[in-house]
Amino acid sequence: MPPTFAQLGVPKPIGQALARRGITRPFEIQTATLADAMTGRDVCGRAPTGSGKTLAFGIPLVARVGRAEPRRPRGLVLAPTRELADQIATELRSFSGKVRVAVVYGGVGYGPQVRALRSGVDILVACPGRLEDLIDQGVAELSAVEIIVIDEADRMADMGFIPAVRRLLDQTAAKRQTMLFSATLDSEVASLTRDYQHRPVRHEIGQGTPDVVDADHVFWHVDRTKRIEVSARTIDAAGPTIVFCRTRRGSDRVARQLSRTGILTAAIHGGRNQNQRTRALKDFASGRVQALVATDVVARGIHVEDVSAIIHYDLPADYKAYLHRSGRTARAGKDGIVVSLVPPDQIRELRYMQRRLGLRQPVTDVDLTTIQPLDGKVRRLRPRRATVDPSRQPTVRRRQHGGSGRPTRTSRSRNPRSNRKRRASKSRNKRAPARARS
Ligand code: ADP
Ligand code: MG
Repeated sequence: MPPTFAQLGVPKPIGQALARRGITRPFEIQTATLADAMTGRDVCGRAPTGSGKTLAFGIPLVARVGRAEPRRPRGLVLAPTRELADQIATELRSFSGKVRVAVVYGGVGYGPQVRALRSGVDILVACPGRLEDLIDQGVAELSAVEIIVIDEADRMADMGFIPAVRRLLDQTAAKRQTMLFSATLDSEVASLTRDYQHRPVRHEIGQGTPDVVDADHVFWHVDRTKRIEVSARTIDAAGPTIVFCRTRRGSDRVARQLSRTGILTAAIHGGRNQNQRTRALKDFASGRVQALVATDVVARGIHVEDVSAIIHYDLPADYKAYLHRSGRTARAGKDGIVVSLVPPDQIRELRYMQRRLGLRQPVTDVDLTTIQPLDGKVRRLRPRRATVDPSRQPTVRRRQHGGSGRPTRTSRSRNPRSNRKRRASKSRNKRAPARARS
């Protein structure tokens, strides 16, 4: 039995706010770091995705941060992407009480961000680029920052943000608490620790690379031309799915083609503006769309509940990308399936990646019987859908060819929430033609 939050020094009001969200016992990384972080020590934490790193730094941050003067935040969280920054701010606000949390990133107007900073922000969650902009404009100033968190430091490194992170760190108070979290702690991340952390408490969970996610991993031989059909049928069988493509144009095209088969989709990638990205994520999280078609931009740090499946439509560039993409499902101990579509000319590349990952599954023919929804009730809705006029309901047309050989399986977790979502999206599907957002 892990200790309670209270035993780790978490103040009562925070514990109560977390309990209202059903969070009552700390996860492993939190058990490992909270007590030290609550006393102000530097922390260097490595743990796989979905292991609860946000609360590991968020709780001490909210508990220890002081009251800020205008423009001079006292706590700072640096995050690589806008989506992650939003996510962190939302999570912090769920228990921050009177502590003021604001978030700044590029791609949206300055107005609200400037106003927030002027009125005073205790904890600022920021992407490095926009924060440097705001500092240049004289709207923000970092000399009062006494607690700083660098989240997903490895991703910052991948995206070329380390020089900006260093410039920002250089502007904060010399006597500060620095917490760094990352899926890997090598090369550039190690240099950040060396240069900016003072005798950090190191806590490393899992192996040197992020863990292979706790999901079923399957690898299918699929000709490139068959990938849309196979993806559509997988999404149909599995429920909420993220489909990963290599390029922006590729994801727009796949979103369009999937929606022609009757799957409701939204695309999300770096070429879309912030509003489009936020809306795509929201529509996916609420079940308005069945599939999110994405580039690696969203592969890390985004937490959407109940993602049933990940499809590697294009194989990831390397094993790290495989882990980060796959980490979008089977989060927080839930089930999920990860499907890789492997064209004949990429078998060797795949084998190499599998060895790095320690995954030994054979590449097989497409086998949809391995796919099942996270919630068993979905299947019982099928006969009803067959009565819908096929000319108005492309999903049903496809299903009629889809065969009936679905296995009866019961081993997965039951999740009434995703069931509701699926039903909602299906009934919407009947009323409105499929939308592709691209
Ligand atoms: P990471 O940053 O390590 O990838 P997150 O911090 O995003 O993971 O946490 C993943 C999910 O687990 C979030 O939905 C979070 O609210 C939830 N979570 C975190 N800690 C706990 C806990 N102690 N008990 C229950 N759920 C938790
Ligand atoms: Mg995280």
